[in-house]
Amino acid sequence: MTRAYNFSAGPAALPEEVLIQAREEMLEWGGARASVMEISHRGRDFVALAEESEADLRALMAIPSNYRVLFLQGGATQHFAQIPMNFARPDQVANYVVSGAWGEKAVREAKPYVQARISASSLDSGYTRIPPRDGWDLDADAAYVHYTPNETIHGVEFREIPEVGGMPLIADMSSDILSRPVDVSKFGLIYAGAQKNIGASGLVILIIREDLLERCPVNIARIFNYSEHAANHSLFNTPNTWGWYLASLVFKWLKAQGGVAALGERNRIKAERLYAAIDGSGFYTNPVSVEARSWMNVPFFLPRAELNPLFLEEADARNLIGLKGHKLLGGMRASIYNATSLAAVEALIDFMGDFARRHA
Ligand code: PMP
Repeated sequence: MTRAYNFSAGPAALPEEVLIQAREEMLEWGGARASVMEISHRGRDFVALAEESEADLRALMAIPSNYRVLFLQGGATQHFAQIPMNFARPDQVANYVVSGAWGEKAVREAKPYVQARISASSLDSGYTRIPPRDGWDLDADAAYVHYTPNETIHGVEFREIPEVGGMPLIADMSSDILSRPVDVSKFGLIYAGAQKNIGASGLVILIIREDLLERCPVNIARIFNYSEHAANHSLFNTPNTWGWYLASLVFKWLKAQGGVAALGERNRIKAERLYAAIDGSGFYTNPVSVEARSWMNVPFFLPRAELNPLFLEEADARNLIGLKGHKLLGGMRASIYNATSLAAVEALIDFMGDFARRHA
């Protein structure tokens, strides 16, 4: 067995217990006498999985009863467009707060469907901080406010949920959902692609405050209409049954770990140790302002870019994978989602210290 310590940004490491269970159930799932991929999504067995997984997610995130949970497809990228399609008219304004590359992409994809307006941005800092709340220029008549609580590429994360008055707050939580407790009642909509903290790619979870569904227009194709999906309990068409099954296993695993509060504590410790190792090294650097540093994605740089290939090669030889930084930033990035253990982080810190001593 040579499974490595995996720091990939997404698709990302999954809990080993989940993979083992999925392997065991690959040929015959429950009493189905077939794999979960080979049975009807409308049959009793799969519907029971769908219901139980939603109940588990509701318990994990303490989702209030006036929110609907959808298990859809298309990646977060499709929902960048589908959100304004459902919750705004093309002549309306929507506020976008941009603290990194994914927020920029959300604006770009929204533009055909809403007057997407950048109400705050930390571009001038190279996305190394959160735009200070007192400088946000929010249009109070806008359809909603959109932001990205954790920017996966720049490693910038909001500590607090911003106050935005009466407008629905929409959060792309693709890379920080389930990483710590959040007060769902503060949001109009939370959405997240699954391939970091939920499971495998090809599944997107949306948590929508019920009253917003009344905005969904009837003149869009039903496949894009969130109220249609809600009315059909995410079974309007064939869902990603395998992805949904994996998510259901991850939710059970999260509950067994003590839930999101316990994971949050573990994630805080993992991040603090890694940032302390970077800051204390006199070798590696992380440019993000301390109060905005992500607990999930930790970009870091070596003092000389020509050392990067050697760092990656030696890390690989030590069974540490997925460390190459995003092409926008270069350098390195360690993604340390829920399934990445403290032991993995410590193995990385150990290697980084050793590498720095030899190449300082
Ligand atoms: N938003 C964020 C914050 C992300 O990290 C990602 C993927 N890395 C996306 C959106 C896009 O997700 P997808 O590729 O599944 O569309």
